[in-house]
Amino acid sequence: MPGGMGRGGGPLAAGPGGVCVCPKCGYEIAHQLGTPCYRIKCPKCGTQMTRK
Ligand SMILES: [Zn+2]
Repeated sequence: MPGGMGRGGGPLAAGPGGVCVCPKCGYEIAHQLGTPCYRIKCPKCGTQMTRK
């Protein structure tokens, strides 16, 4: 396994940051480092966000 880029994350590897998405209304927000998506509530409907 060569080092460097590509950690075998597949097409879902979003790299640093990434996106959190609301499973209810589909609202997307930029993931903040140090804050898991599940700790963020959707600003539109208040639903717990999940990582996209
Ligand atoms: Zn929502």
